[in-house]
Amino acid sequence: MMTVELICVGTELLLGNIVNTNAAFISEKCAMLGLSMYYQSVVGDNPGRLEKLFETAIGRSDIIILSGGLGPTQDDLTKETAAKVMGKTLLEDQKAREAVKTFMERRDRTISDNNWKQAMVPEGCKVLYNSNGTAPGIIMEEGNTRVILLPGPPNELIPMFEEQVYPYLHQLQPEIICSKMIKLCGIGESLAETKIIDLIEEQSNPTVAPYAKTGEVHLRITASAESEEKAYQLIRPMEEELRQRFGTLIYTNDSSVTLEIAVYQLLKEYHLTVTTAESCTGGLLAGRLVNVPGISEYLKEGYITYSNEAKEKLLGVPAEILKEYGAVSAQTAEAMAMGGANAAGADLCVSVTGIAGPDGGTEEKPVGLVYISCFYKGRTYTEKNQYTGSRSRIREYSVASALTLLRKVILDEMEE
Ligand code: ATP
Ligand code: MG
Repeated sequence: MMTVELICVGTELLLGNIVNTNAAFISEKCAMLGLSMYYQSVVGDNPGRLEKLFETAIGRSDIIILSGGLGPTQDDLTKETAAKVMGKTLLEDQKAREAVKTFMERRDRTISDNNWKQAMVPEGCKVLYNSNGTAPGIIMEEGNTRVILLPGPPNELIPMFEEQVYPYLHQLQPEIICSKMIKLCGIGESLAETKIIDLIEEQSNPTVAPYAKTGEVHLRITASAESEEKAYQLIRPMEEELRQRFGTLIYTNDSSVTLEIAVYQLLKEYHLTVTTAESCTGGLLAGRLVNVPGISEYLKEGYITYSNEAKEKLLGVPAEILKEYGAVSAQTAEAMAMGGANAAGADLCVSVTGIAGPDGGTEEKPVGLVYISCFYKGRTYTEKNQYTGSRSRIREYSVASALTLLRKVILDEMEE
C-alpha cells in the first residue's frame, strides 16, 4: 500500500484568512484511490521551514503532494524549494512558456518578468499544463519517491487534479484502469445525476462519475481489471444502461468528439447546410463550428447582427417585430433564424439573441435572458433560456445551447 502526504503552503492558511479546502479535496480523492494518508501539514511562505518539512515528508512517505506557492511572486517558493531538496535544477519549458504567453495575451494582461518564472520547471519532471492559470503543476520522480506540486487556487488545482493527477495516481496501482467518456448535451448536471443516482450509489466496479461542462455533462465510466479487455467488458453493460436512460441526449461515446464535431457529423450525414445569425454571441457560435475542419462545405456564411439596423438590413427582421417585442424576444429570434436561412440560402439557421450583461437587464428581461431559434423546412423551433454569471459565461452557455438545439432539430426532423 502506497502512502501519501500532503503539505499546504501559505501564510494565509496559518492565519486563518482562508479555509484549507484544498486539503479536504485532495484527501478525499486520495482515499478514493486507495492511498493511505498518514500526515498533513500547513506551512507558511517560508523557504527554510518548508525545506525542513519537505525533507521529513520525503523520509516517511511515498508520494508527497504540495499545494500553493507556484505563482509568479517573490513569496511563491514551493517549486524552488522542492527542486533544491530533490537536487534538480530548474530549466525553462518551452510549452509552459507558450502557455504563460497565450494565457496572458488572451486576457489582455501585460506579461511581467516574474511571469516567466512560471515557465521554469525541474529537469526531467512531468509538466501538468494549467488550463485555468499560468503556473503549471509538476510531478517529480526520484527512486520510489514521487512529488507532486499543484497551484493553490482551487479553480486551478481541482481541474488539474481531476484531469491529470488523478489518472497519474490511478495508474500507480497494480490493476489496470480503463475509462470511457459518455458525453451528453441538453441536460443539466443535477438532473443527469438524479437519473443515475442508483448507479452511483451501488457502484463499485465499474464506477460512473458525472462532470459538469459548459452546457454539457460528461459521464466517465471507469473500471479496474487485470487487462484492458476485461475492463472494457465491465464497462460495456454500464454504457448500455446509460444509453437506455439518456437516449439521444448522448451525443458521443468518443472522448475526442466535441459537440461541434457531433453537429458537423449530422450535417454531413444528411447533406445539410447551415448558417448562423448571432446577436449577443457575436460570432462565437460560428467560431465553434469553424473549429471543425471540413465544416466549410456545410457552413458557407454566418451573420453577426448586433444592432437592430443590422438585424433588419442583413436578416430582414421586420422593424415592427423589433419595435413591438424588442431585440431580445422569441419573435425576433425566429425572424432572425428565418431571415438568416433565406439570406444565405442555407437549409438551417440558428439564431441567438439575449442580454449578456453586466448591464442592460430589466425586471422583465434580466441579464442572462437568451432566446435561441432554429429554422428548418419552413418551421422555427425556439427556446428561452435564463443563464447566470459573467458575460463570457452567458455567451458560452448560449453557444452550447444553440449547438444543442441545432442537433436536436436535425435528429427530430430526420426521425419523422
Ligand atoms: P498564485 O499564482 O495565485 O499566486 P499559487 O500557486 O502561488 O497561486 P498561493 O499564492 O499559495 O498559490 O495561493 C493563491 C490563492 O489560492 C490563495 O490566496 C487562496 O485564495 C487560494 N488557496 C491557496 N491555498 C489554498 C488551500 N489550501 N485551500 C484553499 N484555497 C487555497
Ligand atoms: Mg502565490
